[in-house]
Amino acid sequence: TRDLIRVNGLSTRFFTQEGQVNAVEDVSLTIREGELYGIVGESGSGKSVLGLSIIDLIGSPGQITNGEIWYRNAEIADAIRSQRPSAVDDDFVELTSLSPETRQSLRGKSFSMIFQDPMASMNPSLTVGTQIAEGVEAQRRARANPMTTTSKTNRYGMKDYFTSLFLPRNDYIQPESRERAVELLDQVGIPDPAERAQEYPHQFSGGMLQRAMIAQALAGEPDLLIADEPTTSLDVTIQAQIIELLEELQRETDLSIMMITHNLGLIAHMCDRLGVMYAGEIVERGTLPEVFDETVHPYTKGLLGSVPNLDEINSRLQPIEGNVPSLIDSEMGDRCYFVDRCPAAMDICHEHPPEYDLEGEHTVQCYLANERSTDDEKVPASGG
Ligand code: SF4
Ligand code: MG
Repeated sequence: TRDLIRVNGLSTRFFTQEGQVNAVEDVSLTIREGELYGIVGESGSGKSVLGLSIIDLIGSPGQITNGEIWYRNAEIADAIRSQRPSAVDDDFVELTSLSPETRQSLRGKSFSMIFQDPMASMNPSLTVGTQIAEGVEAQRRARANPMTTTSKTNRYGMKDYFTSLFLPRNDYIQPESRERAVELLDQVGIPDPAERAQEYPHQFSGGMLQRAMIAQALAGEPDLLIADEPTTSLDVTIQAQIIELLEELQRETDLSIMMITHNLGLIAHMCDRLGVMYAGEIVERGTLPEVFDETVHPYTKGLLGSVPNLDEINSRLQPIEGNVPSLIDSEMGDRCYFVDRCPAAMDICHEHPPEYDLEGEHTVQCYLANERSTDDEKVPASGG
């Protein structure tokens, strides 16, 4: 399969009163067409900010300061080629060099994102069907004229995706958009979708509302769905059903899904490849067997060791002793960010480790990978 997204050396910083916060630091990864890609890490590791950076929902005081996000879309590449040849390579277009208006027009129809709390992304005063129909309608209009969308920033410093997505007024919604909304509700497994479409968010259970949010995210027929802890607030049974739904969507359509979670069991259950995030960096990535069976990074080992049963999609990450370091630039220094918690730390770890390429697609940011590439015996059999 082909690459859909190639992220190269991406850094996202927040410029706060406490100083510059390096929330995402020099991250590289690829997501393929139709793939389920996992991002795992503790809270505060930068995984949500990575997702928000890809979909361009970072607003002041945050900013992508470095790196490139290449996105395969022949149609968009053709449209941009003449104006901005440097932003196009073959069928790929480099997103961070596009104007905010162009990037915004890609949101919803190219990428969309679902969050932990579906209530927060729904308008309580509109019926669920209307909200989804507005999404369908907005995308139809955005396709017709990409320059009509506007950009707002909410109090979290993120551009308000939902406000901008649902610009068209209720009475502008075409009947076809309403029909499409019912189809989408049906597709995400909501029974009696035509009737449920007339109901308000508070009339939905948590699981049904999560399904409705997924329907909303699919309204623009995106290539990539970024799912940020989509099941964390749900109980175990409902959680399993939502995961099943996402897997089904990924199987039956050509949708790529980036699953952001602290739940390694979930990654083991559903992802093809993954990246492990720590202190804003991807410290280990590769295929599921590479990362789970040939683990090198002591942080990954710690995570794996902290999960009682990987077959259980509900197994939670137990905290590894110690704290995630402050991501404030002036306090991070030139060292391995895991050094204070690492059972295998060496003198050299007070210098920041480079990323080592191992066999296959396996990459590791840790000096142990260097030893391994020359002499396998030196790597501790287990750690964490
Ligand atoms: Fe531990 Fe050193 Fe590897 Fe960092 S570079 S994870 S401190 S062994
Ligand atoms: Mg988060």
